[in-house]
Amino acid sequence: MSNTSYNPYETAQQQFDRVAEILGLDEATRELLRQPMREYHVLIPVKMDDGSVKIFKGFRVQHNDARGPVKGGIRFHPQETIDTIRALSMWMTWKCAVVDIPLGGGKGGVICDPHNLSDREQEQICRGWVRQLAKDMGPNVDVPAPDVMTNAKHMLWMLDEFETIYGGKYPGFITGKPVGMGGSLGRTEATGYGVIFTLREALKELGIDITKTTASIQGFGNVAKHAAKKYCELGGKVIAISCWDNTDKKSYTFKKADGLDIDAMEAITDTYGSVDKKKAVDLGCEILDGDAWIEQDVDILIPAALENQITSSNVNKISKQVKVLAEGANGPTTPDADQIIRERGIFLIPDFLANAGGVTCSYFEQVQCNSNYFWEKDEVLEKLDVKMTSAFKAVSELARKKGLYMRDAAYVIAISRVAQAVKNRGWV
Ligand code: GLU
Repeated sequence: MSNTSYNPYETAQQQFDRVAEILGLDEATRELLRQPMREYHVLIPVKMDDGSVKIFKGFRVQHNDARGPVKGGIRFHPQETIDTIRALSMWMTWKCAVVDIPLGGGKGGVICDPHNLSDREQEQICRGWVRQLAKDMGPNVDVPAPDVMTNAKHMLWMLDEFETIYGGKYPGFITGKPVGMGGSLGRTEATGYGVIFTLREALKELGIDITKTTASIQGFGNVAKHAAKKYCELGGKVIAISCWDNTDKKSYTFKKADGLDIDAMEAITDTYGSVDKKKAVDLGCEILDGDAWIEQDVDILIPAALENQITSSNVNKISKQVKVLAEGANGPTTPDADQIIRERGIFLIPDFLANAGGVTCSYFEQVQCNSNYFWEKDEVLEKLDVKMTSAFKAVSELARKKGLYMRDAAYVIAISRVAQAVKNRGWV
């Protein structure tokens, strides 16, 4: 559950201001980039299965499109706020820029809890959101994708609604579509795998053998699960995962000191990432408090759930053994906790670099749709690895050369690219 005492939009702006200062950006560019260019608030009426009508609130925020059409996911979450979406839209702009793909940044959301909605009700929310926003979106304008609690099924409903409105086939309207329906092989795995590609490079630079490392992961949704699998495939051992339990309305940490079997854990997890506790005990797991993931004696921490998870109240619980923090989630670390991570010298792979694999694969999906020629999975993942590795190397090289914190180095590269684009277009 997101920690609501921190406002992610303020975090995103603080991070931006810090780097705008380092870069010496002019006032107009600062004002243009530290807030979204456009935002939409919509109401979506849905006829529920019991015959009643419920009104859902939705958003789309288009932060910046200087480098290309706006790109970013749509989240379904009961605690969604406009400020969270604003922050996430900004982070999308930096994410696309740091991996150097020709896209801007945006984000969408609907305040709802899919756990309590039937498939038909979710479909109506998807279609209603598109009906409200279709005139301000499209393949050359703004292209949504999956995010927290949305997946390929939702994307296809949204695409179908868009194509119904415009009367034609527009596969470029959305990414994260099902494979065989314009989706790319590897898209589901891409974000999690991308986290591990950057982690692999970080460990190489630090001279640490990945096969001798252990990790603790927060989350067991799409990002966390695939990150865990790739990390184990490269020889690492995941000893703890923490995830939300929708029945108890709290999270738990599942721990196995000699390493969790990720496939076996997946087999006892529902579609929203809640693990069956009884079956976990049968698999030999210890069940600890949800926050216990952060205090494990491991080499690597991977927060891959929601924003505001590492805060001033738990950052000091991070074990002395931890060498790398790879942010799979967007905005998992609050500014005060970030300061402590920086001071402790923990090697950080910042969120919009670490988790850029998803949008990079979305870009590959657009390329494949445009040419109507779909690549083999190996080819997609190989190209993803090349992109993520070169983005990581550019950031770490800059960090080393200029003595910058990894988050600041990633921002310097991303903000410079976007600032250059707005300048070249003659906007400032
Ligand atoms: N929702 C993902 C993210 O936060 C992917 C966005 C996309 O593919 O457009 O990066």
